[in-house]
Amino acid sequence: MESKQYILSPREAYIAEQQWRIVKRSIDARQRELRVHLTILTDEKGNPIPKDAPIPLYEPPVFQDVHNATRSAIIIGAGPAGLFAALTLLEHGIKPIIYERGKEVSERKRDIALLNRNEGLNPESNYCFGEGGAGTFSDGKLFSRSKKRGNMQRVMELFHYFGAPDTVLYEAHAHIGSDKLPGIIKSMRECILAHGGEIHFNLRIDDLRFNDFIQSKTPIILAIGHSAHDTYRMLAKEGVTLETKGFAMGVRAEHPQALINRLMYHTTNVEYVGNASYSLVTQVDGRGVYSFCMCPGGHIVPAGSEAGSCVVNGMSASHRNSPYANSGMVVQINPEDIPGSDPLRGLEYQEALERLAFEHGGPEAQAPAQRLQDFVEERESKSLPSCSYLPGIVPSRLDQWLPAHICKRLQQGFRDFDRKYPGFLTNDAVILGVESRSSSAVRIPRDPESLQSISMPNLYPCGEGAGYAGGITSSALDGINAALKIAEQ
Ligand SMILES: Cc1cc2nc3c(=O)[nH]c(=O)nc-3n(C[C@H](O)[C@H](O)[C@H](O)COP(=O)(O)OP(=O)(O)OC[C@H]3O[C@@H](n4cnc5c(N)ncnc54)[C@H](O)[C@@H]3O)c2cc1C
Repeated sequence: MESKQYILSPREAYIAEQQWRIVKRSIDARQRELRVHLTILTDEKGNPIPKDAPIPLYEPPVFQDVHNATRSAIIIGAGPAGLFAALTLLEHGIKPIIYERGKEVSERKRDIALLNRNEGLNPESNYCFGEGGAGTFSDGKLFSRSKKRGNMQRVMELFHYFGAPDTVLYEAHAHIGSDKLPGIIKSMRECILAHGGEIHFNLRIDDLRFNDFIQSKTPIILAIGHSAHDTYRMLAKEGVTLETKGFAMGVRAEHPQALINRLMYHTTNVEYVGNASYSLVTQVDGRGVYSFCMCPGGHIVPAGSEAGSCVVNGMSASHRNSPYANSGMVVQINPEDIPGSDPLRGLEYQEALERLAFEHGGPEAQAPAQRLQDFVEERESKSLPSCSYLPGIVPSRLDQWLPAHICKRLQQGFRDFDRKYPGFLTNDAVILGVESRSSSAVRIPRDPESLQSISMPNLYPCGEGAGYAGGITSSALDGINAALKIAEQ
């Protein structure tokens, strides 16, 4: 099939999208007038192919029945890395046996509702832990820069196969949304079970008898994500080699979405393109300061997994239609910034800052917050603007208690962003502390060829928790790669 490229107004592009089969779509906001770049599939004569024409979109996956398979692999963690590993094993006739510390996704929803109402944190079932992992109640952004790691399009196709909208196949910055993700995750589970795989919920792996596993020769895919600090400590005790890696910490900023639409799209009319997002980066004193996991039309959420700590992150529904735009604003932290030689010192540093944020928050787990301009100009916020964070926020001097190397860089970073987008630095925006889990502070080194841990044969650390991926798509790809290595053996 052929394709043709068009540059259209948002309305023209919207109409074309309803009629024709789209191959690529991206928004161009560089000029004052918004433009949409659309690539439409055509036949040999250049006629556009109708949206509902019966053409194969992609090769559908073929999952084998593994009820009586002779080979199996254990997977610890049912996040994107673990689930995509399981699906890949099924394609190769290997039985996946998944252990997940959290609950299945519908039960997990209830724990999250309690958390949002300040009715308690379940340390095993929250925004980080449970079926689908950290990506389930998220914005579900699928954009990834890690194109060299494997077949990203295949990840999109699998998401689509399990129920994601067509846009994941062609949108430059596709996202799914927290209202759709749980259904997709459930379909993946049903497929794994129907083909003979196993999933055990409420089962946290606390102790790995590595010698037993090595003798049994059953491969283990370790896909624990980066919030399972207790599991990292267990791995260290068991003699698995771990190393500190660079990570990032900061705050979550929230602006009125209408303001972000004006700054990014030069208009508040976003009827045909949806709310605007942004991606900002600068360098301050030799360290990157950047926006992270921006959620247009979203909500800020309590994303901690331990009592007595305050961790924030963001999510959006598929329509991205709340009046708020939030994003992590983080500062790069290098291993040498944290004194000592313990490979887990990055985790301790994260935890210390999360406890500090909790102490500066409210008595009912409200997050500490400061208006943005007040933070940069180092003054108290006498009042706070309305905010999407359901557990609530209380005024706090983040400029006084955030570590200086983070605070000063963030302040300069916000000034830099305001130079690029005048109006970004405003007291209509608010920042919440702390955004501490943007990336893993630990790596589980692995052999680049076999993808096995350098200290434990048969152990395949993968996904975000292994320190080789960040985000839903790259973690899913990493899970696929681990499973392919096992299939190759
Ligand atoms: C609120 C929020 C929003 C996000 N939004 C986005 C986004 O829009 N786009 C994006 O690309 N990324 C987003 N992320 C990050 C993304 O979710 C992660 O990068 C991704 O989920 C990592 O996948 P993973 O499979 O490696 O680990 P995880 O998703 O963290 O999954 C690990 C799983 O392992 C389980 N586990 C841990 N320890 C054990 C144990 N000892 N025994 C058994 N099970 C265990 C956990 O319960 C968890 O379910 C977001 C994260 C959060 C928290």
